[in-house]
Amino acid sequence: MPSPGEFELIQQYFADITSPEASIRLGVGDDAAIIAPREGQDWIVCVDTLHADKHFWADDPADAIAHKALSVNLSDCAAMGATPVAFLLSLSLPEADSAWLAAFAQGLRKLATQHHVSLIGGDTTQGPLSVSITLMGQVPQQQALLRSGARVGDHIYVSGHLGAAAASLQHKTQPAFQQAYRYPQAQIALGQALVGVAHACIDISDGLCADLSHVLSSSNVGVVLWADAIPTHPEVRATFSGDEALRLALCGGDDYQLVFTTDAPAETIQALSQRLGVTLSRIGEVVEAPGLRVLDPKGHDVAFDHLGFEHFKDKT
Ligand code: ADP
Ligand code: MG
Repeated sequence: MPSPGEFELIQQYFADITSPEASIRLGVGDDAAIIAPREGQDWIVCVDTLHADKHFWADDPADAIAHKALSVNLSDCAAMGATPVAFLLSLSLPEADSAWLAAFAQGLRKLATQHHVSLIGGDTTQGPLSVSITLMGQVPQQQALLRSGARVGDHIYVSGHLGAAAASLQHKTQPAFQQAYRYPQAQIALGQALVGVAHACIDISDGLCADLSHVLSSSNVGVVLWADAIPTHPEVRATFSGDEALRLALCGGDDYQLVFTTDAPAETIQALSQRLGVTLSRIGEVVEAPGLRVLDPKGHDVAFDHLGFEHFKDKT
């Protein structure tokens, strides 16, 4: 429950991050927001919490922290094939620093406006810096892209280029890596376009292999990836040895690209890629034998020690 000063703070920074949208009947200011379902659509809802010095650096620019907190949720929404509509913000702050809050609200407003999503409520408390966003979106009824739909024989595609965000942990000030870590771009338009095309879809938050392994277990299938087809970020390739660059692309987290499986012809995917201006790389195929294999160009298995970033297991 905010103090009087905090009410003003909410009004000042968080009451006007809105886009016109018929499903939002009431936004910030009452005990709860009111949203109405649209005909023929399902709601999707997701939440992600970012803690300082775990999911972002406390000294990152405030607008970047806001961008990342909303982006990781937009990315989950994209992975379901949904259109984002509204979000709630739960903010824990050590102090009410107005310059920090103004920059944070600015970062939030910029990305919210770009995706036509409205901030409809939240919670503000004093405590260690953390940002939790709950996002709601809509998708045509029964059409959401699930992890469980992959079929044997499907092609596997990934969007964009991988490994740059994870590379920033080793080269914190390298501009391309820092940009990728601070300002991930959720693939909303791609997710929407994949409805009816992809059989299964997931976004890459913990690393390509770690996230793809969720598709395998949900779908009861296996995966073969081709190491030389993995779209490693060019700066990652230029900076690291071949093995380390591949490891970053396969296991590094925070890319927020989409991986999907489909039986659509290559020309269909190519046309989609051109229409959206998003690189789509075919990286492997879904097979019957369970497990995830990565093959080098000679057909030998590439060995890994570790499938990406997992909270608690890594004690981070
Ligand atoms: P309550 O005490 O009834 O739970 P609050 O006093 O915490 O409500 O919040 C008052 C209003 O301000 C509510 O509409 C709430 O959704 C909104 N609000 C609080 N914090 C935030 C925030 N960080 N961002 C957006 N809206 C917020
Ligand atoms: Mg109340």
